Amino acid sequence: MKAELIAPCGMNCRLCYGYIRPRNQCPGCNASDDSKPKSCTNCKIVVCEKRNQNDWLTCADCDTYCRRLRDLDKRYSSKYHMSMIENLATIRNHGMDFFLEQQYNKFCCPACGEITCVHRVECPSCKKPIW
Ligand code: SF4
Ligand code: SF4
Ligand SMILES: [Zn+2]
Repeated sequence: MKAELIAPCGMNCRLCYGYIRPRNQCPGCNASDDSKPKSCTNCKIVVCEKRNQNDWLTCADCDTYCRRLRDLDKRYSSKYHMSMIENLATIRNHGMDFFLEQQYNKFCCPACGEITCVHRVECPSCKKPIW
């Protein structure tokens, strides 16, 4: 788990299928736009003026989570059992190092010890079901 793979919205790109898939891999939200999927280069959260003006690496310090973030959180919470807003709250309250350690413990496959993927119901390494 790496801090540079934590997107402004609180998504951990290390857990994204786009990051681990064998072809057309995405280097993560914080990498340059050249090799990212279009959906990620058009993200309104990344270009948010409030975040950029305040030099915030993530939305964790924002006092008013906007509709865009809340909608994304809602979609991920219901579809992928992962909450951006919970991630951001952990970063805000306990710091990035704590969050990364928590992510590792949470998304480490109990069967093989490799990192799992939020977009898949089975471990990408050993194929055992995660949920
Ligand atoms: S596709 Fe989006 S969420 Fe996935 S690794 Fe790329 S930037 Fe991160
Ligand atoms: S308004 Fe706040 S929550 Fe929304 S993108 Fe900007 S910094 Fe993030
Ligand atoms: Zn596994």
